[in-house]
Amino acid sequence: MPAQLIDGNALSAQLRAALKERAAALTARDRPAGLAVIQVGENPASKVYVRNKIKACGEVGIRSYLYEMPTSASADEVLDRIRMLNADPKVHGILVQLPLPAQVDEGKVLETLSPEKDVDGFHVQNMGSLVVGKPGFAPCTPAGCMAMLQHIGLAIPGKEAVVVGRSNIVGKPMALMLLQQSATVTICTSKTVGLAAHTRRADILVVATGKPRMITANMIKPGAVVIDVGINRLPDGKLVGDVDFAGAREVAGWITPVPGGVGPMTITMLLTNTIRSAERELSREVAKKP
Ligand code: NDP
Repeated sequence: MPAQLIDGNALSAQLRAALKERAAALTARDRPAGLAVIQVGENPASKVYVRNKIKACGEVGIRSYLYEMPTSASADEVLDRIRMLNADPKVHGILVQLPLPAQVDEGKVLETLSPEKDVDGFHVQNMGSLVVGKPGFAPCTPAGCMAMLQHIGLAIPGKEAVVVGRSNIVGKPMALMLLQQSATVTICTSKTVGLAAHTRRADILVVATGKPRMITANMIKPGAVVIDVGINRLPDGKLVGDVDFAGAREVAGWITPVPGGVGPMTITMLLTNTIRSAERELSREVAKKP
């Protein structure tokens, strides 16, 4: 029997409907949630991502503020913009679209963001919170994957989880989140010897490598939950994941499609973090009142 689909669009629609109500409640109290987006340069893919995020904000009732800066923008100009937004009370979340031009140091940019407004969850303080299991903003892509696992009612404790890829924005935080839920976690990298032997053990297989269709059906344990984070454009224009979907769905128990899987969930988590930040700010304000 083919695997059941974990439909990121459908789950996102459900979660965004609830976010819309929370956004409306904030607006009704004259404290609308606000997300600032800084985009430096002319990277066409970044422009599409930014446009999608801003559109999604509008649909749930989050105000968005777009700051487009030229490719030639200096590091100081970008950092000054961030400091200004850190201090702006109408902004609850700040997102700096990556990649940045070479002269703007990504690490410095992420350090300059206020951790309280770091709705992408990339600041070392938020990463550190994830490591020690404290509350903080979790990176959106792995948080979206966890929401998908929760949605299908999977009991994570004790499961064998294999994460292929160790980037700071996907693989590492994903592994930490699974560990937090008491999975037995293995992280594979490009240097892993005998990758298939690892992936075949996985009850939960998360793949984030950027290598189109590299995980094939024979690398998957029958009945496994397969989460495909990859987004790759083939020369013919087709969008595919890091998993060979057609083959994998004949073996897996559950699988996410590409497109329409993890992608929309990432944006939904960004919206969730922004609303949470705005709600937290409002409760602080209320607590301060005599
Ligand atoms: P990175 O390039 O930063 O990291 C890729 C990771 O995959 C590295 O750790 C690398 O290992 C590992 N890797 C590469 N080849 C192999 C291999 N043959 N076997 C095992 N591991 C391998 O990518 P990202 O994590 O940023 O993104 C991964 C994919 O996810 C991309 O397709 C990206 O477009 C997509 N993505 C999707 C998002 C969404 O919303 N759906 C959001 C973010 C990313 P090593 O460290 O040894 O080099």
